[in-house]
Amino acid sequence: MMEERVIETASPEETFALGVRMGETARPGEIYTLIGDLGTGKTVFTQGVAKGLAIEEPILSPTFTILQVYEQGRMPFYHFDVYRIGDPEEMEEIGYEDCFYGSGLTLIEWGGLIEELIPRQHTEIRIEKDLQKGFDYRKITICEVA
Ligand code: ADP
Ligand code: MG
Repeated sequence: MMEERVIETASPEETFALGVRMGETARPGEIYTLIGDLGTGKTVFTQGVAKGLAIEEPILSPTFTILQVYEQGRMPFYHFDVYRIGDPEEMEEIGYEDCFYGSGLTLIEWGGLIEELIPRQHTEIRIEKDLQKGFDYRKITICEVA
């Protein structure tokens, strides 16, 4: 089963607000994968999600650590950025299974790079630019795979 909806945003604030709404409605054990080129707004969206989970710490992209865990929100928040993952074994070392199959919200920037590790049931969030529609335009496609 696959359900898809498209949301268009015209500013970082709107993308952030979409993240907030998704963070507010997230349930324990859910997995969000974020797909999109560098600078499309994956981290902006993630910062909104964290706010929606009532996390107050600043969210920085864990580009070098791969994983950052936040425990103080409505549920644990596992923020991955797998851009620099060389091979999937690094994910084992990080202990990704405790996150993916745990009772927090997992969000994976560049999730497409570790597709083989992503459980079938997850939500894919694709962010695309379209420069013809303006520099700040983003098309965000949310696809629930179950
Ligand atoms: P990524 O994590 O995908 O590499 P970032 O979230 O770090 O990207 O950066 C996105 C950049 O694009 C920010 O500088 C942000 O201000 C800008 N931006 C412009 N318009 C939008 C929009 N509609 N949604 C999200 N970010 C936007
Ligand atoms: Mg990022």
